Amino acid sequence: MYEIIDGKKLSAKLRAEIAEKANKFKEKSGRQIGLAVVLVGEDPASQVYVRNKIKACGEVGIKSYAYYLPENAGQGDVEELIRGLAEDCSVDGILVQLPLPKHLHADEILKLIPVEKDVDGFSGQNIGKLAMNEDCLVACTPNGVMKMLESKNIQIRGKKAVVVGRSDIVGKPMAMLLLNADATVTVCHSKTADLKKECLEADILVAAVGKAKFITADMIKEGAIVVDVGMNRDENGKLCGDVDFENVKDKCSYITPVPGGVGPMTITMLMYNTCAAAFGREKI
Ligand code: NDP
Repeated sequence: MYEIIDGKKLSAKLRAEIAEKANKFKEKSGRQIGLAVVLVGEDPASQVYVRNKIKACGEVGIKSYAYYLPENAGQGDVEELIRGLAEDCSVDGILVQLPLPKHLHADEILKLIPVEKDVDGFSGQNIGKLAMNEDCLVACTPNGVMKMLESKNIQIRGKKAVVVGRSDIVGKPMAMLLLNADATVTVCHSKTADLKKECLEADILVAAVGKAKFITADMIKEGAIVVDVGMNRDENGKLCGDVDFENVKDKCSYITPVPGGVGPMTITMLMYNTCAAAFGREKI
């Protein structure tokens, strides 16, 4: 019998805790925690993400500063904005919504975010710290997955974990977090020779591929813990994950659904990181 790890429920619990912390921060420092969100252009999906992030800030008592730049903003304009935010004492976290329009050099822009304000955890410095198992701001989606496993007291030490996907924002930091938690980790990708064989060995399987229902029941070991990061549309346009949930669930001990699994945790972890960044900066 499988158990669902409910990301929506856990998110609500964590957001209440973050709101309490944000309130405490205000009492001690005399100011609200601040998150700057920068959106360049009018990509509809990015607009939705930014709107949801700003809404979440309001819910937990974090002050959001939204900057909307036109699609044709120059490299210099964006860099100048980020430099200003880097210096601004009321801003604890800076988030540049990706992807940026193609004419901009995202790397050069992201480099200007000070490591202590890098609430997305995407900077080389934060990734390096994570690789060395040092205290740092961790990418929101994989950090949310860790919180989900923790919420069910799932022991990670000694388990065989398989991460399918090796992107810089999900797969790689996910693998590092599991390794830091003492799992034996395999990272699979599009050139993996025998994906099914690797997956069948997983006690913990994390799917971050971006292909609807790609992980099928014949790839799952009996009793495995399956975490689905994917956000895709199925043939009927319905939101679905990378895991064929209906056929996989009965083989699992725990499984995360889509929607209502990892998705809601990502923005919550952004709030969590912003809160941590603020306490870290003020040394409270
Ligand atoms: P990327 O496209 O950057 O990475 C996909 C990874 O999957 C790559 O490493 C790729 O391998 C691997 N892959 C592709 N095809 C195969 C295959 N046939 N066999 C094995 N591996 C394969 O995606 P992201 O990491 O950004 O996102 C992954 C999914 O997670 C997407 O559905 C995305 O929407 C979702 N997502 C969800 C979030 C949430 O909040 N829930 C947040 C972020 C992402 P290779 O490196 O060789 O190309």
